[in-house]
Order: sequence, then structure tokens, then C-alpha cells
Amino acid sequence: MSLQSVGRVTRPEYDAPTAEPGTNALLQNEPLIFERGRFDATGVDFDVDDSDTGADDLAGLIRAVAPALPGLSEPETMRHYVRLSQHNHAIDLALYPLGSCTMKHNPRLGERMARLPGFADLHPLQPMSTVQGALKLMDELARWLTTLTGMPAVALSPKAGAHGELCGLLAIRAALEARGDARTTVLTPTSAHGTNPATAALAGYQVQEIAQTVDGRVDLTDLAAKLGPHVAAIMVTNPNTCGLFERDILEIAHLTHAAGAFFYGDGANFNALVGRVRPADLGVDAMHINLHKTFSTPHGGGGPGAGPVVLSAELAPFAPAPWVVRGPGGLELMEEASGPAAKAFGRLCAFHGQMGMYVRAVAYMQSHGADGLRQVAEDAVLNANYIKARLSGTLSAPFPNGPCMHEALFDETWLEGTGVTTLDFAKAMIDKGFHPMTMYFPLVVKGAMLIEPTETEPRRELDRFCDALLDLAASAKAGDIERFKTAPRTAPLSRLDETQAARKPKLRWRPETAPA
Ligand SMILES: *Cc1c(COP(=O)(O)O)cnc(C)c1O
Repeated sequence: MSLQSVGRVTRPEYDAPTAEPGTNALLQNEPLIFERGRFDATGVDFDVDDSDTGADDLAGLIRAVAPALPGLSEPETMRHYVRLSQHNHAIDLALYPLGSCTMKHNPRLGERMARLPGFADLHPLQPMSTVQGALKLMDELARWLTTLTGMPAVALSPKAGAHGELCGLLAIRAALEARGDARTTVLTPTSAHGTNPATAALAGYQVQEIAQTVDGRVDLTDLAAKLGPHVAAIMVTNPNTCGLFERDILEIAHLTHAAGAFFYGDGANFNALVGRVRPADLGVDAMHINLHKTFSTPHGGGGPGAGPVVLSAELAPFAPAPWVVRGPGGLELMEEASGPAAKAFGRLCAFHGQMGMYVRAVAYMQSHGADGLRQVAEDAVLNANYIKARLSGTLSAPFPNGPCMHEALFDETWLEGTGVTTLDFAKAMIDKGFHPMTMYFPLVVKGAMLIEPTETEPRRELDRFCDALLDLAASAKAGDIERFKTAPRTAPLSRLDETQAARKPKLRWRPETAPA
């Protein structure tokens, strides 16, 4: 039965795309679905019999008033979402150089494995005997993570890096309380990712900053001065958020431990070290690993993520439940706060964590193998240094001496006098077909431009990217300010008031013509 012939359903008119503002060649502008749809129409045929009598097939359940939902035909609905998706940048479209975020290619193998019904259709309350494969995969993931980090234990359940930080600090707090040692303060370097101080505050600690040296590393003198019996932990990212290896990492760990504090490693940048350095050998007591960064899984826009935390022997007893153990009948999840889990500080989430992320991470690990993971770190660092080398003659770097690790950091000194800012430059990159790099972070660098290519970019693509940036740089230096101030010109929407959008988000569309 065709939609038109159904008595009480009005088919929405086919809405041919017009050259409206924001439409650019094949990229089409798209209004809100509420603006596009009609309240008196639906694309669903509720009339299941073929007699076309208009009789009520819904056994008297038909609503007196239509719901205030937009009605569209199926093709319109599909097009709505496809058009919206085309307004987004994607890693499958071009390099996505967001420093700190590690946006790398997500191998199709990982996607395929995650969609296997045995993993994708699991229910967290299934009997243990029916999920032995999934538990084995979690056990396998734990084995890789503890081997790669040299740490004896891992808590798999945290659902993001920030969640892992919370897990680590709560384990540290539990360990300190267990030894009757109440401490009040967590130290973080000035260049720390915002989640570090936020996590420390959430875990009930005061936060104190450690100064940075002129070459972008932790200032050891300042660290020594700030350590004391009140310090519970320091949180250090290595390589740090300036993309630099903390050369004094062993001394940092030594000073920290001598003061009776714990060393929390922010492992978001583990992709620069994996297979080359074991955090345990650097003196780390707890560290989260962003599976969605180092071991590739689609992420961004708020998720999904997974942030397992590796723990030292001293912290391991306080790890949150659940974890996988070998029982008489096979693998089991240790769920109760008794036996080996008696000291667990609690749980971080209702179930075991993000199964889909575990599957993708294990697929990444197994398909690379140990030697391949070592090459991940080497190629990530090589690619960043290639970009640093190609752009350095033109863009200014705040820490020009020596190589960088997995990300190349520039500032806006080179733009002085041009009238172009880091923001303008980033917006102009969109017109060149690239997502902007991370801007204005780390905060310690004025007008920061943090570029992370990751290991999955071939040299051709790095060259295409560098050529685009060098072309823009030449424009900026030649005084073509218009190009920058009006950028992006090719995107459906140009400069949005991002502050307003963040401070006063419009989360609800209010109908003008919807039924009461
Ligand atoms: C991404 C990141 C985090 C937070 O991780 P999420 O998974 O986004 O919560 C913490 N520290 C650093 C250095 C990061 O890059």
C-alpha cells in the first residue's frame, strides 16, 4: 500500500534541495529536523490491512492529538542524517590533526571484530558460562596492558581517560587511608591536561601547580619545594602536553616516592612510548591508558572511550571491582567486595566497562603484534617530527631545540603583525579540507597550535597537509587578511559564537506551529 492512499496519513511533500545559503555544490545545508518535518504527517504506514477502509487498526489506541514529532518520509529522513554527517569532519575523510586527541585511522578489522554477534549482542547479566569468550578477551587485554606497561595489575572498567584518572586517584586515596596517612594535596604541572586538576578536585584533593622550565619540562626545583607530607600524589603526562619527553622522569619519581607520595602517570600519550618504554620502569604507580587513543577506536564527540588503569603491586588491592579471575568452572568476574577484592574502593560503573572498545583494542594489538606496536610509537614520533621539520622554517615553535615526540607544537609568534590569529589560521584550514589542529592548548604556550598526525598517516598525506599550511602561511604573511577573517567560506556554517553556544546552549526546540 502506498503512503498516499492511507486515509489518515498525509504524505509530506518531497522536499527537493534548493540552492539555499550554506549549500555548496554537493554539500547541502540542512535545517533542524523539526523545521523540515511536518507535525501532521508521518512516513510510517500504520494501516496494516489492505482494505483502505480508514478503519482504526490500533484497537482504539489512536491518539486524539498528534505527538509533536516531525514527520518526514523515509528518504527525507535518510537524507537529513546523511547531510548532517557531511557537515562533520571525519578521520576517513582526511588527516585529523587534533593534538592530544590522537585521532588515528580505525582499522576495519577492529570494526568487524566488534560487530561479531558474540561480542556485540552480549548482555551484561548473562550467565558466566555463556560469556567465556568475552571474559577471555578481557583477560587477553589485561595481559597485553600489563605486559606493555610492566605493571602487575589493571582495572579495566573505567570508561574514559578522565574516568581512569579518577580510578587511579581513588585507589591512591584508599591506599593512603589504609596506612592511616591522610594527605590533602595533588601536584600537577602547569601544562597538565585540564582533566588532571579536575580529577584531583573531584577526588577531594587541593591542587597545586608545578612550574615549567623554559624548555617545557617539569621544574625539578619547584617540584622538590612543593613536595611534602601533605602531598598524596603528583600527576605527570609523559611525553607531556607540549609533545616533549620528560627527561627527568626518574628523578621526578624518586623525589615523589621519597616524600611518601604516589606517582600518577597520565597515559594519554602512551602511543609515543608503547613497545619502547614500560611506565613501570619510569617509577609510575598508576596510569590510565586511553584505549581509544593509543589502541585506536572511533572516538570524539563525547565517546565512546575506555580508560583502563594499570596499578602497582601496592595499589592493586584497592582496584575497583569487577575483574576477571580463574574459577573452578572457567573464567569469572570477581564482583563481591570479599576475598581478593575485600579492599576494593568500590565500583566505577554498573558493569564491566566498554566491551566494544576492548574488542577493537585487542584486534589492534594482535594485528600489530609486539613488534608492530613498537613501530606504532616510532612512526607516531617520526610523523610528528616530519611535520615539525617541514613547518619550522615558517611557523614558530616555542620549544624549537631538539626533536619532539608524537606531536609538533607551534605558537603564534610568527603571525605577529599580520593581523591573523591562531583562531583565524585554524578556520582557514577548514577551507583547505583539513580539520584544525588543537588550538590554545597547552595553555602555557601563547596561541598554541598542537599538531598530532599519528602513525597512521602516510607521508603523501603529511605532505598534502604541510603544503596546505605553508600555502596559508604565505597568504598570511602576504597580508591576505580577508581570506582568514572570512574563513571558513566553504563550510555550511561559518563562524559561530562558540562562547554563547557553550554558555547558553539551546537544547530545546520550541514549536511555533506544533499541536498544543
Ligand atoms: C585525552 C586526554 C585526557 C582525557 O582522556 P578522555 O578519554 O578524553 O577522558 C587526559 N589527559 C591527556 C593528556 C589527554 O590527552
